[in-house]
Parts: sequence; C-alpha cells; structure tokens
Amino acid sequence: MSREVRVRIAPSPTGDPHVGTAYTALFNYAFARKNKGKFVLRIEDTDQTRAKSGSEAMILSSLKWLGLNWDEGPDVGGPFGPYRQSERLVIYKEYSQKLVANGTAYHCFCTAERLDGLRAKQKEEGLTTRYDGHCRTLSPEIVTQKLEAAEPNVIRLKVPASGTVKFEDLLRGELEFDVDRVDDQVLMKTDGFPTYHLANVVDDYLMKISHVIRAEEWISSTPKHVLLYQAFGWEAPVFCHLPLLRNADKSKISKRKNPVSLAYYKRAGILPTTLVNYLGMMGWSFGDDKEIFSLDEMIEVFDLKKISLGGPVFDLAKLTWLNQHYIQKLSPENFVDYIRDEIFSKDYLLSLRPLLQDRMSRFEQFVDNFSFFFNGPLHYQGLEILPKGKDAAAMGAMLSDLVEKLDDLYEWNHTAIHDLLNAHREAIAWKPKDYFMTVRLVTTGRKDSPPLAESLEQIGREMVRFRIRNYLDSGLLK
Ligand code: GLU
Repeated sequence: MSREVRVRIAPSPTGDPHVGTAYTALFNYAFARKNKGKFVLRIEDTDQTRAKSGSEAMILSSLKWLGLNWDEGPDVGGPFGPYRQSERLVIYKEYSQKLVANGTAYHCFCTAERLDGLRAKQKEEGLTTRYDGHCRTLSPEIVTQKLEAAEPNVIRLKVPASGTVKFEDLLRGELEFDVDRVDDQVLMKTDGFPTYHLANVVDDYLMKISHVIRAEEWISSTPKHVLLYQAFGWEAPVFCHLPLLRNADKSKISKRKNPVSLAYYKRAGILPTTLVNYLGMMGWSFGDDKEIFSLDEMIEVFDLKKISLGGPVFDLAKLTWLNQHYIQKLSPENFVDYIRDEIFSKDYLLSLRPLLQDRMSRFEQFVDNFSFFFNGPLHYQGLEILPKGKDAAAMGAMLSDLVEKLDDLYEWNHTAIHDLLNAHREAIAWKPKDYFMTVRLVTTGRKDSPPLAESLEQIGREMVRFRIRNYLDSGLLK
C-alpha cells in the first residue's frame, strides 16, 4: 500500500506573510485534497532573532482568508503536535543526542573567536569558508570532561569527507551534490535551540510527511537534509521544489519591484478567489488555455508533474485584470458586503475615528479629506514635494533609505514610527519642516493630514512602502 499523502507548509514567523507562502500553501493544499491526504501547518519559529511578534497570527489569518485551511496545525492541533517548533525543543535535543550516540554528529567546543579567525584566514587564502573539523576527532574522554565542565558547545553533523549526495526532485529528476561542498552543519546551537535543518527533518519525519513541496530556494538545503535522513537511518520524503515567483524582469520576486505581502493584496482589494486563481497559474496550467478556474476545479485536475520550471512572472496587470473579472461576477449582495466589510469595515473606521472626529465639521468632508486612508497609489499632480534647497538625488536617497528603515521596524505602531522618523531625520540632518512635509506629501498626498505617525500606522506598512516606491518609480523625481 502506498503511503498516505501528508504534506505541510512550514513558514517562519519573520514578518508579514509573503505571496510565496500562499503559493506554496496552495500547491500543497491542492495536492493534499486531490490525493485525499492531509495538509499540515507547522510554525518554524526556532530562530528567535528573526521571529516577529504577531507574525504567526497574520500567517494564519491570511491563509484562512484565501480559504487554504489546514487539517493539523498550532491552532487546531492534531495527532503529531505540538505544531510550533519552539514547543518541541526537548524532541530536538533527544534526536540530536541520538546522532551523537550513533557517531554521525559531534559536540564542537570551538569559540566564536576561533571560528572568526578560521574564516578570516580561509578568506585571505581564497578558500571557501567552512568549518575545519577541529572537534571531529576529540576523544570521548575530553568531550565528557568538557561537557561536565559545562563548556559551551554546539552539535555538528559529521558530513562524510568525500563522495556525493543524491536525491530525486519530482520536477527536476536526480540531483547530485558533492559532499565536499557541504559543511559540517550545526544542528544544535549553544543556546539549546536547533537549527532549521535539524528541526525541519526531525519534524517532517515525526509528522509522517510524505512529500516536501517547497520553494526552489531550499534546494541547496536538501543535500544536508538527505544526509540527516541517512544519519538517522530514515527514509526521506519525496522532494518537489516549486519554481520561484519572479518580477517582470525575471529576477526573484522581491519587494523592491513588486508588493510581496499578502496584507498588501488584501488592502488593495484583490479578492481571495482572484489571488488563488492567479497563483494557480504560476508554473501550472489548467489545460485548454483555461485561465479562470476555482480552487475546487483546480483540485480536480491537479497534478504536480504538470508544473513547468520556466520561472513564472507575478504580473500585477494580469492579476488586476483577473480581479476585475471576479468583481464583475460578484452578486449585488456580495459586492456591497465587500465594500462595507473590507473597505469600510467597522474595525477600520473605529481605529481611524480618533484621527477624524476632531477634524470634521460636516460629514460630507469625509471622502475628500480622508481618501488616502482607503486609496492605493496616490496622484501627486500639482504638489510641490521637493523642498527648497534639496535636489532630486538627495530626496531619492532619503526616501529609499526611509523605506528600508520602515521595513525593518519591528512593531508597526505610531510610537515606533514616530521614533524612527525622528531618528532618521536627525541622522540625515534635514530640517523638521522639510522632512516631515516631504514624507507626509508622498505617503498621504496632502499637506494637511492628521498626525503623521498615527496616519502611517493606519495606512499600514505595505501601503506606505508601496506609495513611497511608487513615487520613486514615477519619474516625478527628476
Ligand atoms: N521554515 C522554512 C520557511 O520559512 C521552511 C522551508 C521548508 O519548507 O522546508 O520557508
């Protein structure tokens, strides 16, 4: 009997959920449903330095918005939980010990200074930087002594010195890598947290994942995973690496050229049916040139092998065209409900209220004065944005720098935005009036708006970034 189909997505909660996550989720979901299998959601949150609060909740709600519901996950539980890696630390510890015991992994006591020195020396000699195996051959007595003395250490995989590692990719056929390109991977870090590689393999095994369907960017990790399966003596799942979504110029999709956050598409009024249909066309085709299809129709004919590796382009114009089709198809009731529930939702209006109530004398002013809370791209005709004494290059640099900084902002709230704007202005020594007016005009299209940081908080990180980028790309800055 063939194995039960069990697939998963394993997002890391490091920020706003990405269209790539929805794309991978869709293909896993369609494959699971087509094969009457299970679709699992696992949160890979062991990299505490990159985890962002609130990100997990956003991932869950965006996938639900798209209708890609999972059978097992941190919120719904399931027979192989917990489904959040930070709650599975004892498991990783136990499994890393198994590898040490069977001789396929070892404790490494090298200090950060030694490793830095090693890296610097290898760089100087023009060599690939890698661990030199210093602790591979420590005698068991020395290791015990050091462990008893509680010397900080990591656990590394003992990668064979030579040979190749092979695996079958469902779309690419057999792939082969020289092991001398694979470093002795760290599996457990000094702080007792596992690395991605160990946790991912142990969980895929314990959660009985039959097919690992993930983005192409993980191909280079797969040899390490295969070596881990071998070290444990486990059968590896089937691997299928999906093609990367691309910008119009064929480069890997990136927020510099395309909005990538699902929150942006929701905010921009793209219907979930549109996005699912559109992502379904990325590298996969329904057949008969059919471009408009529902999720259920997609599942019915879904076949992973029909994915082509040509590098699907995520094209906003095409997405918008498709959305227009779905808007036209909405029933009168659903059309009106969408505007009321999504654009003018009570929650959004309540959060805007403190910024509006003291700035109105007649309700008819609402649409005109506050349209920037609801719009997408803004129009800047007739607005003097460039402050006197600044040239286009200085302003371009200032705004590009600001987008980066806003992107890295840990929490998106007005206090944090306010502090960031002040620090940025001081760092580049712009006059407050010039700086704040420029940012206000570019992000709201108006000279008079409610307090800037509060307004940006409501407009949202993705729309703010989109407007600044859009302005930078508009050709107005010349
Ligand atoms: N945590 C990885 C990510 O963020 C999972 C990759 C995989 O599917 O193995 O995408």
